[in-house]
Amino acid sequence: MPAKTIRTKADLAINGSPPAFAEPLHVGRPNIGDREAFLGYVNRILDSRWLTNNGPVVQAFERRIADYLGVKHCVAMCNGTIALEIAIRALGLTGEVIVPSWTFVATAHSLYWQGITPVFADIDPSTHNLDPDAVRRMITPRTTGIIGVHLWGRAAPVDALQAIADEHGLKLMFDAAHAFGSSYRGQSIGRFGACEVLSFHATKAFNTMEGGAVVTNDDELADTLRLMRNFGFQGYDNVVHPGTNGKMIEVCAAMGLANLDGFDAILASNRRNHAAYRQALAGLPGISVLDYDPAERNSHHYVVVEVSEAHSTLRDDLVAALHAENVLARKYFWPGCHEMRPYRDLFPHAGLMLPHTRQVAARVMILPSGTTLPEDSIATICSVIRLLAQGSA
Ligand SMILES: *Cc1c(COP(=O)(O)O)cnc(C)c1O
Repeated sequence: MPAKTIRTKADLAINGSPPAFAEPLHVGRPNIGDREAFLGYVNRILDSRWLTNNGPVVQAFERRIADYLGVKHCVAMCNGTIALEIAIRALGLTGEVIVPSWTFVATAHSLYWQGITPVFADIDPSTHNLDPDAVRRMITPRTTGIIGVHLWGRAAPVDALQAIADEHGLKLMFDAAHAFGSSYRGQSIGRFGACEVLSFHATKAFNTMEGGAVVTNDDELADTLRLMRNFGFQGYDNVVHPGTNGKMIEVCAAMGLANLDGFDAILASNRRNHAAYRQALAGLPGISVLDYDPAERNSHHYVVVEVSEAHSTLRDDLVAALHAENVLARKYFWPGCHEMRPYRDLFPHAGLMLPHTRQVAARVMILPSGTTLPEDSIATICSVIRLLAQGSA
């Protein structure tokens, strides 16, 4: 069914008329690559009965990812959160680790889960990434590390964070869950800090259904990561390290191989969608679509709309109106990790140090994109936004 045309406020579902879309449009609807290639891999996996435990498909996948990113080691894991936990442990982080609050909660949870205190530093409101000066302010004698997040696939201030880490003897790693295929100063994300952690969750630009990886150029660290993801086993009976079960299964690696072949098509579709949204929303009062630096690579997976400070109530009105039309825009990462449990109880005053996080959290929403978005839906979505934005000006 084609989308309903929205011209006046009476056309909006919030006024009782039917929603613009019969089926909900989701943020992060999974991209599925070459189905036949995937099913071919699955048949071979089933025939071989090698389903997991560092099988040939996982090994091939790791080599492909390492080559694609130009990094020495890719250690594939069952998901990005376990990959973060294992990387944090392999680096020996303890005490306090500085992270942004403006991120998916897994960044903070992966520390807290293992008895480490996430300390939230504020962001630069123009980049949504950690502000190096704010990071400096949060360093205490208990600080052992910094986890930078490349939010929306835009690189964190890598060099400035590395300088702070070097100056204070801290470990630096990156949550690169959004940044597969991104670059920093022309170099592929994956080689920065001690290691970088990828997520291949179904909702990410590139997915293995569930999955993640730690990528690094450090041989010794890669060895430790490989031990830790497989109970510390070296050979059949010899356990030489504490460990857990962080293994990626063969079918997930097969999904990764099939999707990697189709990744250029995903990138092209994302870029088209992003440009269409930017064009359709250009010049609207109080609305901007976050742009990506044309000099850097970015998957353009996230269509981030920011409402200006003068129109601060507009964001929630827009989200409500879009949801009524079956456009499930999301307020990522509202309200910020520091407002989520357990952190809001542990640090009830954390917000005092996070003015930019709080401002940005109140003003951002993410719109549906991806290869499954119907072609004419962007015009309809943007006409809803235009009606409300013009009404509020
Ligand atoms: C998705 C995501 C994660 C977690 O990855 P999973 O594979 O879902 O466990 C961590 N950090 C950020 C910023 C994410 O967006």
